[in-house]
Amino acid sequence: MHLARFPRISLGHFPTPLEPLNNLSALLGGPKIWVKRDDATGLASGGNKTRKLEFLLADAIKKGADTIITQGATQSNHVRQTIAGAAKLGLKAKAFLEQRVTQFGDDYQHSGNVLLDGLLGGEIVAHLPNGTDMQLAMEEYASQLRRQGHNPYIIPGGGSNPIGALGYVACAEELLYQSSQQRLHIHHVVHASGSTGTQAGLVAGFTATHSQIPVLGISVRAPKEKQEENVWQLASRTLALLGVSGELPREAVVANSDYVGDGYGLPTEGTLEALALFARHEGLLLDPVYSAKGAAGLIDLIRKGFFQPDENVVFIHTGGSAGLFGYRHILEEYISHA
Ligand SMILES: *Cc1c(COP(=O)(O)O)cnc(C)c1O
Repeated sequence: MHLARFPRISLGHFPTPLEPLNNLSALLGGPKIWVKRDDATGLASGGNKTRKLEFLLADAIKKGADTIITQGATQSNHVRQTIAGAAKLGLKAKAFLEQRVTQFGDDYQHSGNVLLDGLLGGEIVAHLPNGTDMQLAMEEYASQLRRQGHNPYIIPGGGSNPIGALGYVACAEELLYQSSQQRLHIHHVVHASGSTGTQAGLVAGFTATHSQIPVLGISVRAPKEKQEENVWQLASRTLALLGVSGELPREAVVANSDYVGDGYGLPTEGTLEALALFARHEGLLLDPVYSAKGAAGLIDLIRKGFFQPDENVVFIHTGGSAGLFGYRHILEEYISHA
């Protein structure tokens, strides 16, 4: 694949560890669970967007950008990591936040990632209502900045375009290398899937290397059909960017939307149970929006016998623990009853 031909700037600590979750594996009595620690990428409390930003911000620098514009939900981990990456590179960072969740009060609105956005020097240009055309808001703002003589670079929500997805092509390579080193036959990769760059990059990377490792994306928002279509589109465009020819088989993309619950950013009972199990048996912090929904799917599928007991399942921990502080009251309530 020769990823080294694409501009890239080092922002994180790689390779991230691949570790066994012995306690959870024993507790659940299913397959052997491994965790790929992409929560530990190191950029301002880490997370999966760091991998994408190594390619996206390198592209911005190549194009002579002085300002980065991006968008996300109020408690966006992507916005926080983008601001941190821009700070490290001496670029201005401007973000639009979308009020996708309204019922959670002050901690959700101001603590967690939002607090870090400000500390890292990012400017929240506007906090817009749910359903706003965020791409349009960024484009109009970019035109305004251009008229003032700036050179803005727009990073889409979640950093999910073919350049950003290269970050997860790199993760696929990294996993294959670690599996060789550790003589580990990986039977499944499971992770939380949102704006699709993570899954699309992994699928593109495993497809281009003919590794035949199935990836299961646990959707945090969209219904199955829509999520699979979106992942397929981006994975196909990423393969085209890599110069890999041939149509990506539709079956290479599998999403499960059974764990979304009431919607984006709204934890279910299963989400909270997954948070507690990972915390109390492995000392690992998941997050209520993404990684714990992914883990809730993993746990439920293990209980349903979806995986064979002798299989190795790699759960990609995509990060997000900074968002826990935005969910203080829900977590306090859960802890007091659990
Ligand atoms: C953004 C995010 C995801 C989803 O990744 P996508 O590439 O947007 O699908 C998963 N987990 C966390 C913690 C995230 O911040």
